[in-house]
Amino acid sequence: MSDVKLHPLLDNGIKPATADFAGGTLRCLCMTDKVEIKIEAQTLHNHACGCSKCWKPKGARFAVIAVVPRNKVSVIANAAKLAIVDESATIQRHACKDCGAHLYGRIENQNHAFHGLDFVHTELSPQSGWAAPGFAAFVSSVIETGTPPTEMDEIRNRFNEIGLPTYDCLSPALMDALATHVAKQNGVIQAS
Ligand SMILES: [Zn+2]
Ligand SMILES: [Zn+2]
Repeated sequence: MSDVKLHPLLDNGIKPATADFAGGTLRCLCMTDKVEIKIEAQTLHNHACGCSKCWKPKGARFAVIAVVPRNKVSVIANAAKLAIVDESATIQRHACKDCGAHLYGRIENQNHAFHGLDFVHTELSPQSGWAAPGFAAFVSSVIETGTPPTEMDEIRNRFNEIGLPTYDCLSPALMDALATHVAKQNGVIQAS
């Protein structure tokens, strides 16, 4: 077994989703006055992400992030502590101003393929049963934030060891969804 550390949710044994799990809450990391959001659905496409924008817990090399329909997400406590990390980014990440945890990321551009989906980190939830991470995206991007390129073989091997295929962009299913969206916008295939 490799001892490379990816993320606590991955390093300590991946927990499978609970059948019929219907959502829960996420809380920021503040000791008091936690920002809390409610998610009224199971998450989809949960995955490890190596990009520089996703929020990661201290010491983690990768983020773990999933999506959920935005109409299933609501802020239920201490909303005033939330601020958008980068207004110009495609995904507007709403983070706690005090502890830095990202509570949800939202795409406001209605023409984006993933408009209507919010990005969430279910490790912030006191409940268990959320969708398990199923792949690793933007793996090569960890080099951009300081991982030595010489460690990449070990990192990819570790993902394979725990059963997660690795991609240097998104997974084939999500890349196909993005390309299909462009094809529809260009009129080369029928919009459904
Ligand atoms: Zn906080
Ligand atoms: Zn990311």
